Amino acid sequence: RHHHAESRLTYEELQSLLLDTPSAEKASEWSKYYTSGPHLAGKNLSQAEWTRDHWDEWGIESEIVAYDTYINYPRDHRLALLEKPNAASNPEAWKVAFEATLKEDVLPEDPTTSLTDSIPVFHGYSASGNVTAPFVYVNYGTYADFEDLVKANVSLEGKIAIARYGGIFRGLKVKRAQELGMVGTVLFSDPGDDGEVTEENGYELYPDGPARNPSSVQRGSVQFLSVAPGDPTTPGYPSKPGVPRMPVDGAIPSIPSLPISYVEAIPILKALHGYGPKAEDFNEYWTRNTGLGYKGVKYNIGPSPDNVVLNLYNDQEYTITPQWDVIGIINGTISDEVVIVGNHRDAWIAGGAGDPNSGSAVINEAIRSFGKALESGWKPLRTIVFASWDGEEYGLIGSTEWVEEYLPWLTVANVVYINVDVGVRSPVFDASAAPMLNKLLYDVTAMVPSPNQTVKGQTVGDLWNGHIRTMGSGSDFTAFQDYAGIPSLDFGFGGQSKDSPVYHYHSNYDSYHWMAEFGDPDFAYHRTMAQILALTVAKVSDTPLLALNATDYAVALKGYVAKIEGKLSSVDSSDYKPSSDDEIIEFRARPADPVLQGDPEAFSLSLARLQKSIAELKDAAVNLDAKSDELAEKANEHIPWWKWITKAKLLHEIRATNTKYKNIERAFLYQGGLDGRPWFKHVVFAPGIWTGYAGAVFPGLVESIDNKDYVNALRWVDIIDDCIKTATETMK
Ligand code: GLU
Ligand code: CA
Ligand code: ZN
Ligand code: ZN
Repeated sequence: RHHHAESRLTYEELQSLLLDTPSAEKASEWSKYYTSGPHLAGKNLSQAEWTRDHWDEWGIESEIVAYDTYINYPRDHRLALLEKPNAASNPEAWKVAFEATLKEDVLPEDPTTSLTDSIPVFHGYSASGNVTAPFVYVNYGTYADFEDLVKANVSLEGKIAIARYGGIFRGLKVKRAQELGMVGTVLFSDPGDDGEVTEENGYELYPDGPARNPSSVQRGSVQFLSVAPGDPTTPGYPSKPGVPRMPVDGAIPSIPSLPISYVEAIPILKALHGYGPKAEDFNEYWTRNTGLGYKGVKYNIGPSPDNVVLNLYNDQEYTITPQWDVIGIINGTISDEVVIVGNHRDAWIAGGAGDPNSGSAVINEAIRSFGKALESGWKPLRTIVFASWDGEEYGLIGSTEWVEEYLPWLTVANVVYINVDVGVRSPVFDASAAPMLNKLLYDVTAMVPSPNQTVKGQTVGDLWNGHIRTMGSGSDFTAFQDYAGIPSLDFGFGGQSKDSPVYHYHSNYDSYHWMAEFGDPDFAYHRTMAQILALTVAKVSDTPLLALNATDYAVALKGYVAKIEGKLSSVDSSDYKPSSDDEIIEFRARPADPVLQGDPEAFSLSLARLQKSIAELKDAAVNLDAKSDELAEKANEHIPWWKWITKAKLLHEIRATNTKYKNIERAFLYQGGLDGRPWFKHVVFAPGIWTGYAGAVFPGLVESIDNKDYVNALRWVDIIDDCIKTATETMK
């Protein structure tokens, strides 16, 4: 046991309090509050104030921080299938073959589905436009899907793309369509991607059962992720009132797009029957999960002939408007070691019981628990900052602008960033993290009882497959990890399982009713997630030695280089077969057939240099971790007051060791940034350039290899090697 000088709670007592306090009832109450009305980015001030007031009431001093941001709100839209007899030349001959409602059904069982009737379905950052053109089915719209079409001479220019959601970030589908001269994009949800819980397999449709409601529509941002997240008019600096603004070209689409339900995709896909190749004429990625087959859709590619066209009309209001982050602080005793914990508050829809407000309920319960600890006189070693971000959905706006504003302070003081976005949507625990935080995740999940124990005493850790994904993008950790070099983690019961209820992502049916009926009926997983979050925060903020593990970083880096070595031998083979879903996405998001530049042989040899530097890093890391363990033990021993010199020396050594840990991740920032996207400064982690969500490791290097540009690849070896050496020095 160790004792903090002034605190009346030991660390063990703190842990018990943080396990005991979170309550399922309270989580349900917060969930209900946040999901009872629309709270789109920039339109949720009352929820920001409510959040600030509650955090204050629980004893955490909180304030609202505002940014002036450039975003869009929907005004009007239309999607219609138009046909005319082949020979007719008079404009009146056009018939509306199908007029999409572009609406999700209002369900009497699910009260909040009637609230958003006035908010049309739309895409964040989509372009206004009114286009009428033949259309082409482009599968998932990955880079490789488009390549397949180009190779097969399917005409794309001037056409509208219809793609199914899935695999990669939706904005990148629109981006590639636009680059290939297409004039609009329609995205639909294919029930084939819902796993086993489908109507075809005998499941009832929501609200009667767990299968996808056919009218459900996935909204979402279509920003390009290529320049920077955050406000696209202020890349690299905060959107404070009056700041100069950059043009948005290249950051957001110039062609219009709309999201639709599968039920409204069916007539459009059927109109392609008989035109162009079929999905099965391509490779297996085109026939994967084609769930509308049983509804009579043949997945013909098209293009549709000139007399069968789509009219896509999208009218967006672009405006500069305030968005509100809520920031709450618990001051610690060490001034320059700060832990930050965040969740976004904004949702596309009135609901958002999964995304993001399960996370909001969870962070509230964690905060309320820390408030109880404060009440009993506890004070953390490190300062803890809690954040309720606005504008995540449009492009991680609230978090990115805040990081851009406070970068100098964060660089000096922020030790870890912890993100909870979807806190609960399934019973499957899921995490991604910087490698130095792996151990923390294993330690904490081993302490928290699972709500679903087949054997008494089972913990979340026991039931988790233990897989920790690398940091990509798609939530508010991005600016912390990729721009500021803060080791970050993102977790929640958000894993996909084949037989769990279909999650209606970004749809009106991600509602309190869905959560209470299917997602987490007694809010037990909400409670568990709050326990996990609170214990994680406690461990990084209140143990004398920072809960980071340097050896795990070295081991991970070694693995990433090995992966590149493997890639070199497979990148040229056309029969390369990805094994996991992650690999499929990565593989399908690669450009094909670039021109060879430089010498692959010389490059290949240079990887040995990286491995050598990583081996040295590992030695330093093992030593540092051993030192940390030794100091942790000493910190646990009772030192009598009259040995104050011993104690002072120990505290000094602990400080020095923690500072080393704090600076390791920073060493992997390269100020020049990644090729073509200089805002992204981390040389180890970035969103894949054509995946978005899935992370790329050594992105600069891997993109160069994908482009067969071994001159640039060698340049990246030098950059990475420098970073590794800096990190090694940092550890010594
Ligand atoms: N979670 C958001 C989405 O997936 C992130 C949006 C973004 O990165 O722009 O749509
Ligand atoms: Ca900015
Ligand atoms: Zn979210
Ligand atoms: Zn979302």
